[in-house]
Amino acid sequence: MLRINELFLPLEHTEEDLNAAILERLGIKADELVSFTLFRRSYDARKKAAVTLTYTIDVEVKDEAQVLERNKKKTNVGLTPDTGYHFVGRAPANLKQRPVVIGFGPCGLFAALLLAEMGFNPIILERGKTVRERTKDTWGLWRQRELKPESNVQFGEGGAGTFSDGKLYSQVKDPKHYGRKVLTEFVAADAPPEIMYVSKPHIGTFRLVKMIQLMREKIEQLGGEFRFEQRVEDVRIEDGEIRGLTLASGEQIEADHVVLAIGHSARDTFEMLYERGVYIEAKPFSIGFRAEHPQSLIDKCRFGPSAGHPILGAADYKLVHHATNGRAVYSFCMCPGGTVVAATSEPGRVVTNGMSQYSRNERNANSGIVVGITPADYPGHPLAGIAFQREWESRAYELGGGNYDAPAQLVGDFIANRPSTALGSVEPSYKPGVKLGDLNPSLPKYAIDAIREALPAFDKQIRGYSMHDAVLTGVETRTSSPIRIKRDDHTLQSLNTRGLYPAGEGAGYAGGIMSAAIDGIRVAEALALDIIGRQ
Ligand code: FAD
Repeated sequence: MLRINELFLPLEHTEEDLNAAILERLGIKADELVSFTLFRRSYDARKKAAVTLTYTIDVEVKDEAQVLERNKKKTNVGLTPDTGYHFVGRAPANLKQRPVVIGFGPCGLFAALLLAEMGFNPIILERGKTVRERTKDTWGLWRQRELKPESNVQFGEGGAGTFSDGKLYSQVKDPKHYGRKVLTEFVAADAPPEIMYVSKPHIGTFRLVKMIQLMREKIEQLGGEFRFEQRVEDVRIEDGEIRGLTLASGEQIEADHVVLAIGHSARDTFEMLYERGVYIEAKPFSIGFRAEHPQSLIDKCRFGPSAGHPILGAADYKLVHHATNGRAVYSFCMCPGGTVVAATSEPGRVVTNGMSQYSRNERNANSGIVVGITPADYPGHPLAGIAFQREWESRAYELGGGNYDAPAQLVGDFIANRPSTALGSVEPSYKPGVKLGDLNPSLPKYAIDAIREALPAFDKQIRGYSMHDAVLTGVETRTSSPIRIKRDDHTLQSLNTRGLYPAGEGAGYAGGIMSAAIDGIRVAEALALDIIGRQ
């Protein structure tokens, strides 16, 4: 197979145009081409009147050696690299103890899948419910203001990203192409096949729910065992090695290899681990609001006359501003054509996030607009970031009226520093609802000041971004984990607890679905190699 890089075509082109461009690049005739597949397709919208597509294409030709020789001077033609996944080993026939995976978010899912594929028959413990039941509970908060602390946006089968935009891109280094394995498994579980090649793949909520069920079934068929509504409440550590787990039911499970993929909202579990002496340190994260604008404004600004083109879809954006008080303000988890969602897992607290469907055809674009903070902002204790998050989430609950409505303010009023009293042209999508007012008390002053300065600056990048009627909804506090459960770089085991593999977002080793899934694969490999090496 040959790979062609950097094949540029105008946005409007036909299949024949693409075919012709391949023939031209390789200098071959039509009958020499056997087939081709898209490896990547991205767009360049810097010139709005002439948006171009950039392709990377894998091509099968009749005489590969000859075509390669003819193109040997071209840097954008070469052999297709091997990006397939190769297992690091197989479980020993006399496996003494099954590994346990705690948490079935993207990290736990891929750790469990890999372990199952290698024959380790993992046990998966998940505190929340199966995804169908969990969906009902999650909508219960959005529609009836009823929060289920063990079954919500954060907890349950599929993890935090289940009710999400399902963005699947990540900036993590991936030299072993684990991301391809993740995408391949998603497509096998009925994800849209285009996620294999579009530069910014996304899935959307409804599809994710179905995919997660299918992936669970696959893990079960491979020998995995699922136990839902089984919160791990304690760990037994002896001589610096994990020995067992205690579930909320009181049941004890023997375990000497445990993947800890518990996400960033398992605050009670973080506290338990800290009390048991597992090494944890504070880490930076970000806080802010969700901003909502008309999607049409973002589309027009990003794509000009090409706005609405089906290949481009709803436009996203990425913004950064370095404020004069030294804080960085940036857009986070931008959801084109989506909705702002209530994402708390604790009663009496309000947290925002964003989600969308595959079609991304809701009226508003939303994004976190967040400010970077560090442990210097919540000093004194490795878990102080959790108390800090709780403080602002509780305040948002009060400002929202104490009924899970979220506090909100129009961008124009926020910039002018006056409370909002009436909505304008942008209808906020947060459910159960928003309470308009003054967002000043909802975050520390340095964050408010930095965001107030950033919004007009963002207008220079997206004209209209600081429009008066755009809506800010608070508060966005769970951008990433406030802690890191540190692990050894080589063995990926906890620094001081052998056999414990802190992984994914909660442990501070991922931020997003793709990076959490990749970390799950890495940890599964490290765990497998440790068992194989020991036995
Ligand atoms: P999680 O997904 O948080 O999974 C952890 C799991 O562990 C949970 O299911 C939890 O119930 C379980 N658990 C916790 N404690 C225990 C315990 N003691 N015992 C048993 N089980 C336990 N990222 C993107 O890349 N793209 C997006 O579009 C996107 N949108 C998002 C939208 C929303 C609304 C939210 C909340 C997040 C979004 N994210 C998105 C972030 C993404 O979901 C997370 O980065 C990712 O899910 C982290 O994966 P994880 O497996 O490390 O942890």
